[in-house]
Amino acid sequence: RGTPRNLARLARALQAGEVVGVPTETVYGLAGNALDAAACRRIFRAKGRPANDPLIVHIHSLRQLPEVAQPNEAALALAQAFWPGPLTLVLPKQPIIPDVVSSGLPTVAVRMPSHPLFRRLLKQTALPLAAPSANPFGYVSPTSAAHVVAGLGTKIRHVLDGGPCRIGVESTIVDLRDPRRPRILRPGAITRAQIEGVLRRRVAAGKSRSDEHRAQVSPGLLTRHYSPRTPAVLHEEIRPAAIQRAPKSEAWVFITRPTDVRGKNIFWLDPRGDLRGAARRLFHVLREVDAGGFTRVHLERARGDGLAEAINDRLQRAAARA
Ligand code: AMP
Ligand code: MG
Repeated sequence: RGTPRNLARLARALQAGEVVGVPTETVYGLAGNALDAAACRRIFRAKGRPANDPLIVHIHSLRQLPEVAQPNEAALALAQAFWPGPLTLVLPKQPIIPDVVSSGLPTVAVRMPSHPLFRRLLKQTALPLAAPSANPFGYVSPTSAAHVVAGLGTKIRHVLDGGPCRIGVESTIVDLRDPRRPRILRPGAITRAQIEGVLRRRVAAGKSRSDEHRAQVSPGLLTRHYSPRTPAVLHEEIRPAAIQRAPKSEAWVFITRPTDVRGKNIFWLDPRGDLRGAARRLFHVLREVDAGGFTRVHLERARGDGLAEAINDRLQRAAARA
């Protein structure tokens, strides 16, 4: 827990090159000193993460940004508007960032998180901390300390419990290598409309260029990711008749609570279909489905834009076959 004594102890562990599970407002992270290549290699090892999937570097204050990256005006405007918060900026990196963090790319992804406990830890270590999601590679991201222990408990010694994550899906990632051509690499709680509002220009996103190109820019963004073990199928809309026809061993996940079906195999993300609530519970519900031992899970897409884009991105990856 986040007592002053524990925080001091974890800060010392991080300074000594150890890795620590930390709460953030998006999902739990596995943090290590971003300037220490050996510490960062420990992160990759604990997660079983391939070396070509770069880490996000977390900072406590805007003063640290030029120490790790080369900011441009667009980056400063977005940082001003949304930091601390769930927004990650991809910028040319400073040489101080080891290659293992950026997977050899000339860029680095930087974020200033808002979770109060993680912020205190960042301040106490006085270091930029590299932290990917604290889950075994490819599995559903953790949104509670219990999820971290379940996934990595045998691999890491410290997890800081900061309660359930307020947002529940990973940060929005914006490619700002060329500030005149910003692009959203991963949708999150900061929406495209919000980013366009600050930059006062159109921002590209999603499928407009080939996925292959995206894979080169942001190698970690695989089509299949955030995946439950239960085979998943994505639907535009789930109809009650489809549930009646299917065996009881198949689970159904709605965005909002359905009125006409019930049973142990029926799940929903938010009782009223509020998208913020749905994002917050998404990964938890996918884990519940896995725990239920169902033979298949049917997922219903969220409607609308904004946060729906982030939710549907995760659902799509959960249901992707390869
Ligand atoms: P995670 O922290 O597990 O949510 O993953 C971080 C993701 O950020 C990676 O999978 C990459 O897709 C992306 N990322 C990190 N660093 C960079 C970078 N330098 N350029 C582009 N994308 C990056
Ligand atoms: Mg991840």
